[in-house]
Amino acid sequence: MFDKILIANRGEIALRILRAAKELGISTVAVYSTADKEAMHVKLADESVCIGPPPARESYLNIPALMAACEITGADAVHPGYGFLSENARFAEILTEHGLVFIGPKAEHIRLMGDKIEAKRTATRLGIPCVPGSEGAVSDETEALRIARDIGYPVLVKAAAGGGGRGMKVARTEADLIDAIATAKTEAKAAFGDDAVYLEKYLQKPRHIEIQVLGDGKGRAIHLGERDCSLQRRHQKVWEESPSPALNPAERDAIGGIVSRAMADLGYIGVGTIEFLYENGQFYFIEMNTRIQVEHPVTEMVTGIDLVNEQIKIAAGSPLSIAQDDVRFDGVAIECRVNAEHPRTFMPSPGRISSFHPPGGLGVRVDSAAYQGYVIPPYYDSLVGKLIVHGRSRTEALMRLRRSLDEFVVDGVETTLPLFRALVRNSEIQDGAYDIHWLENFLKDAPTE
Ligand code: ADP
Repeated sequence: MFDKILIANRGEIALRILRAAKELGISTVAVYSTADKEAMHVKLADESVCIGPPPARESYLNIPALMAACEITGADAVHPGYGFLSENARFAEILTEHGLVFIGPKAEHIRLMGDKIEAKRTATRLGIPCVPGSEGAVSDETEALRIARDIGYPVLVKAAAGGGGRGMKVARTEADLIDAIATAKTEAKAAFGDDAVYLEKYLQKPRHIEIQVLGDGKGRAIHLGERDCSLQRRHQKVWEESPSPALNPAERDAIGGIVSRAMADLGYIGVGTIEFLYENGQFYFIEMNTRIQVEHPVTEMVTGIDLVNEQIKIAAGSPLSIAQDDVRFDGVAIECRVNAEHPRTFMPSPGRISSFHPPGGLGVRVDSAAYQGYVIPPYYDSLVGKLIVHGRSRTEALMRLRRSLDEFVVDGVETTLPLFRALVRNSEIQDGAYDIHWLENFLKDAPTE
């Protein structure tokens, strides 16, 4: 097992990793930018190293500074969390070249899944169902028009190097498609330095359902069920739950089996998430995330399995501690991502938190690095904390969520808490009757405050 882990991240996920490391008896090193010197992860870690000024590219994305921090502290492994360098294959390689362990998958798998076209090809090869679309990048308009005619409109133009919901354009007609290809290429080039785009059939009312997997890199892999992340705003997840209100146990076993067999064949190591769109009983692969995800706690709450603990142990060379047959799905968990943003316009609202009172009680978990007096810096994401509730049934989880949201106090900045208070009282949400467009429509119809 490792003696010391450097956590190459900030905020709630840095704390989450720190907690898992402490429970394993491993020392922790926090890194921070000058904007984060008062941050909770710095206060709670055994050691800390300043790695640069506020802009992420000069601190949390600064590989030489992180390598120096490893060297100074004698860390033997690095946990990248999510975002920042978590899906940077080169960073994983550099660590390995220096005799350090990257707590994540092999660099080749990060690279493979980071290229969405390669990822789809691999998924198809491994027997995972994909959204119908172009086989690879589309080279010109004529080819795009031909493919779109085959798969049928509307179609979605996506950037091969895309991420975070950026670089996607819907085309409903041939004229639309010509425009969409041109703008998607220009935008992709500017945002990702790569103008390759591909086509997919645009699904009209799908749900976003993703499967959590764990692999040991030696041919064994298990799945931990699904998370339904259909409630999205601008393709960003807002509310996640497990199990999905739309799936039955047979469907879960079937898709879980396909995915875990595929990951075993790939020799995948660590935690990963295979994302699907789900419509009319069919699953369509969209991408794989080769890291721990923001919404991982809902899976932990229903399975009782600590994903970060597993991730660290697997990276240290241990076999999987659980077999598929030992995985039990118990009750329902729901997560709300509480952001420091205006609840309707979603304008970021950085600043000083004048009072902070998170909810508690049975089945309530708050993953947050905020505290009273903490100043949310304007440089990074606006997550204040994740509220996760667990109940024996979905009704119990919803009642618990409602009272927890009413109890949650965050003053001094705007937050999205009022939005969640409205969602938990909405009858369609209560019925679990929502698809990936539901939230955008709800926001359009709702009066702005
Ligand atoms: P990113 O890597 O940018 O997050 P994804 O491929 O994961 O991109 O897609 C993000 C979201 O975009 C999905 O959760 C879904 O809401 C929407 N989306 C992606 N592909 C399609 C599609 N073929 N049809 C309809 N919606 C889609």
